[in-house]
Amino acid sequence: MRSFVHALPKVELHVHLVGSAGLDTVLELARRHPEAGVPADRAELARFYAFRDFDHFLKVYWAVQSMLKGRADIHTLVVGLARELARQNVRYAEVTVTPYNHLTDGMAGDDLLAGLESGRAAASALGVDLAWCFDIPGEKGLVAGRETLAFARSERPAGLVSFGLGGPEEGVGRAQFAPFFDAAREAGLHSVPHAGETTGPETIWSALRDLRAERIGHGTSCHEDPRLMEHLALKGIPLEVCPTSNVRTRQVASIEAHPVRRMLDAGVVVTLNTDDPPFFGATLEGEYLAVATALGLGRADVARLAENAVLASFLPNDRKTSLLEEIAGVLASAG
Ligand SMILES: [Zn+2]
Repeated sequence: MRSFVHALPKVELHVHLVGSAGLDTVLELARRHPEAGVPADRAELARFYAFRDFDHFLKVYWAVQSMLKGRADIHTLVVGLARELARQNVRYAEVTVTPYNHLTDGMAGDDLLAGLESGRAAASALGVDLAWCFDIPGEKGLVAGRETLAFARSERPAGLVSFGLGGPEEGVGRAQFAPFFDAAREAGLHSVPHAGETTGPETIWSALRDLRAERIGHGTSCHEDPRLMEHLALKGIPLEVCPTSNVRTRQVASIEAHPVRRMLDAGVVVTLNTDDPPFFGATLEGEYLAVATALGLGRADVARLAENAVLASFLPNDRKTSLLEEIAGVLASAG
């Protein structure tokens, strides 16, 4: 199964740029920015990086964020992610970028865009196509919504395909961001908010109703509402499921206990994703293997998960068709 999962051409739909920073990337950043106080020694950094609990995860996340000062740092981050994706035979990823956090940290918008663009070109040379989702850090409120929308609309970098909403859900209602999502959709961006990761199904309903979500980030709690699962299945609204992330943040007890089985049984379009992979000790191949093992899936079911991600992506149709053909070929040659 391991070599089968590797051979499948894969698509990643839910990965945060800052949260994708692996050890090599952070070492490079730490050596470039010693003032940040992040360990520049590999062994020491590995200890700092090891997942302990959610609070420590946030500490590591903000330490990485604090070293992102200019275009070279963004370039380093994007190329580090692309190398990791290429290693796993991931061909395409929609990467979540949170411009508001970089801009309020003092980075110039032009530097952010230049780093994204040069990183995207380098990724393409590695055989990995990248697209961007600009997301609102919900906990920063309406001003973050306004600024994220303004930046997305005025800059509109190549590869920007979608508009998201992240951060904590508790006390951060989805509906208040509706005007920004309306305007983003009018500008041709797809709506992909996080919902139902840490709160119940009502948040997912709100994302669908108020933000016209075309995909749901996580959607873990949808299984608590059979009517919602039926609706998601009927409308073909995919979920960006991140199993290891959900276990690490204690939304679910284990991969075995993850509602992904109920989602699949209800006919919901499930895609597998990593969220903040090195922080959670996750890889996309690892997610496929973990779910296959926990659910006792065969090759055809695993290939279906890979197909789901292709179909749920915002790739042009010809790219979707060629990836689907390649998946079918891998399945056929596996017997
Ligand atoms: Zn996320």
